[in-house]
Amino acid sequence: MSLTVLVTGGAGYIGSTICSALEDAGHRPIVLDSLVGGNPDTIGVRPFYQADIGDTDVIAQIFADHPDLSCAIHCAALATVPDSVERPLDYYSNNVTGSIDLFRSLTDHGCRRIVFSSSASVYDAAFGPAVTETSPVKPLSPYARTKLMVEMVLEDMAARGLRALSLRYFNPIGADPKMRSGQTQKVPSQILSILVEVASGRQPVFRITGTDWPTRDGTGVRDYVHVWDLANAHVAAVERLDDILPEQGGCEVINLGAGAGVTVREFVKAFERVYGNAVPTTDAPPRPGDVAGAYATVGKAHSLLDWRPTLSLEDGIRHALEWAERRGPSVVT
Ligand code: NAD
Repeated sequence: MSLTVLVTGGAGYIGSTICSALEDAGHRPIVLDSLVGGNPDTIGVRPFYQADIGDTDVIAQIFADHPDLSCAIHCAALATVPDSVERPLDYYSNNVTGSIDLFRSLTDHGCRRIVFSSSASVYDAAFGPAVTETSPVKPLSPYARTKLMVEMVLEDMAARGLRALSLRYFNPIGADPKMRSGQTQKVPSQILSILVEVASGRQPVFRITGTDWPTRDGTGVRDYVHVWDLANAHVAAVERLDDILPEQGGCEVINLGAGAGVTVREFVKAFERVYGNAVPTTDAPPRPGDVAGAYATVGKAHSLLDWRPTLSLEDGIRHALEWAERRGPSVVT
C-alpha cells in the first residue's frame, strides 16, 4: 500500500535521502522544512512547504491538501553539537518546543504515527563498546539532551494513544547511491572531510588523536552507517509501524548502526583504498572529552524492522566523495 508521509527536515541530508527511499518504495513524501539548513536543490518536484515545524497554519494547510496523510517522519532539528553548546536555548527551543508544537498539530489533525530521528549521542559514553537500546543514557551536550527529551515526550504521548518509533542513529556516512542527495554541511569537520584535505595536500597530516584506548589498535571506535541504509530503515519503520506498535498507543527505541565498530586507523586504510592516495598520519594525545567509542547492537532493528545494513564503509566513503565532487570539495561527511 502506498503511504503519504510527512517528512520534516526533508531538505536536509538525512530527510532528503529518506524522501528518495520512500519514493523508490512507492510512497509519497511531503516535505516540511524551514530551510534554516539543508539543501533546497534536493527537494525537486516533491510537495514542499517552507515553514517552521511550529507553524500550525501551514500544518493545517498540509492536512487540507493531503487528507490521506497519516504518518510523519520527524527529522527537522538543529543538529551540531558544538553549536548547541554555544546557543543551548536555540536548541531547546527549536528541537524540543518545536517538536512539542509539531506533535500537538499532528495529533490535532488525527496523525498518530511518528518516526523520530534520535541519536546515539544520548548513550552514556562510559558504557560500551556494544550498545543496546537498554544501555544507560547520559547525554552530554544540549543537542543530545534535546534528543532524549523529545524521546521522553513521545513516550508520555504513547500512553495517550500515539504510536512512535525513536530511531537512534549512530554515524551516518555517504550519500544516495543515485546521487540525488548527500551531506549539506559546508564546514569540513568530520573525519572524512579532513582526510580529503590531507590526501589532496591542502593539509599536511592527519592527526590520530588518542592511540591508547582499549580497542583493537588503540584508536577510537565509531559505528558508521550508510545514509541509504538508514533511509531504508525509515521506509521499513513506516510500513511496519502498525504491526510493531499496538493500536491503543506505544513506542519503541531502535538503534540504527552498522552493528560493527571501525577504528580510526581502519577508517584511514579504507579511505586510502577508495581514494587511491596515501594519507600521512601522526599519533597525538586524545582531545578533552574524547572517548574510546562504541558501536550499535542492531538485533532489535533486525527483528522489528527486518532491516539490515547492506552497504559497506567503502561504499559510504565512495558515495560521499562522489557527492562532494558534484557539490564542491568542502561538502563531505
Ligand atoms: P540537516 O541539518 O542536514 O537537516 C535538518 C533539516 O531540518 C534542515 O533542512 C533544516 O532546514 C530543517 N529544520 C531545522 N529546524 C527546523 C524547524 N524548526 N522547522 C522546519 N525545518 C527545520 O541534518 P541531518 O544530518 O539531515 O539530520 C537530520 C536528523 O537526524 C536531525 O534530527 C538530527 O538530529 C538527526 N541525527 C543526525 C545525525 C548525523 O550525524 N547527521 C546523527 C544522529 C541523528
